[in-house]
Amino acid sequence: MSRNTGYIWHEQYAWHDTGTHAGVFPSGGYIQPLANFESPESKARMAGLIEVSGMINNLTRIPATPVTDEDLLRVHTQRHVDSIRSQSDATGGDAGDGFSPFGRGAFELAKLAAGGTLAAAEAVLAGKVDNAYALVRPPGHHAEPDEGRGYCLFANVPITIESLRARGLVERVAIFDYDVHHGNGAQKIYWEDPNVLTISVHQDRLFPLDSGMADERGGGAGFGTNINVPLPAGSGDGAYWKVVDEVAIPAITAFKPDLIIVSSGFDPSAYDPLGRMSVTSEGFRGMAERLVSLAEDVCGGKIVFSHEGGYSPVHVPFCGIAVLEALSDTRTDVQDPVNFSVGDSPTRELYPWQDEIIAHSAELAKALGMVITDPAPQ
Ligand SMILES: [Zn+2]
Repeated sequence: MSRNTGYIWHEQYAWHDTGTHAGVFPSGGYIQPLANFESPESKARMAGLIEVSGMINNLTRIPATPVTDEDLLRVHTQRHVDSIRSQSDATGGDAGDGFSPFGRGAFELAKLAAGGTLAAAEAVLAGKVDNAYALVRPPGHHAEPDEGRGYCLFANVPITIESLRARGLVERVAIFDYDVHHGNGAQKIYWEDPNVLTISVHQDRLFPLDSGMADERGGGAGFGTNINVPLPAGSGDGAYWKVVDEVAIPAITAFKPDLIIVSSGFDPSAYDPLGRMSVTSEGFRGMAERLVSLAEDVCGGKIVFSHEGGYSPVHVPFCGIAVLEALSDTRTDVQDPVNFSVGDSPTRELYPWQDEIIAHSAELAKALGMVITDPAPQ
């Protein structure tokens, strides 16, 4: 039986202008101008394949509307919001770390991106759809309260959670982040919050260099509700599936959230220019199937995917279709052409140094289960 999956995409998400870097490097000197890796291509081509393949006919389109300043300010400082707004009203600028360039009008685009994730979650919680995928841009999982980082201006997922909590629509939320980079934004925002579980699986010390270690477990009342799985470079489908099976499923089952939000970055792809992992489209499909089934077991199937990174314009569309097929339990006749070269590589084998870190994080998931025996009092 197919599921009713909501889908958010707005053409303006492709208009967010990150300038003429050569990948991550500003052009100049010996660096010839090219596109920034965070270009519209990977996301716009995913939206294109969803149309061309007919996948769109299996989905329920949900319109995105911008979040308000009030929504932003539940998570971000006035200083940060004003900084993005004033640069955006002028000629553009940088969100804070020198790696997050944006053009004129990005303030409104970033509010529309956060609003896409929020609209997806509202539709799921209202029962209009069973689950949802918000294909939003710019991404959000590196944005911190007072600073944008790593291509992210505003924290799309926390802004969504705080808007829902302010209206009493959810109390407890679990975030699972499989983007190849560490989900430092949610970790920082929810460090001391026992009602938001943050789990990030990422390439060890890729970005940010100084966060995402397994001993970062949250603080104060939130101790234990932050779990990092810093996998070594080269990990593939097998390692990611095992992380879901042995870390995410036990932790989220014990946590008993009202809603699961997945920070969905496709940069663990074997074809990604910024990551050094080996995940195939079948790897992403396998993770999504497990997470959908987990949501059915723990929170009535309520799960929302919010798009983050993923910088291979060739591969992201095929990874995205596989996830949407898993969410909706439908199939298209799309075949991933990249499987020709990576499908038979030893991506599903685990080496001892991969097993070791997963086993360590699995212990942290077990420890969370021992602390949380009942959900928060209603
Ligand atoms: Zn990323």
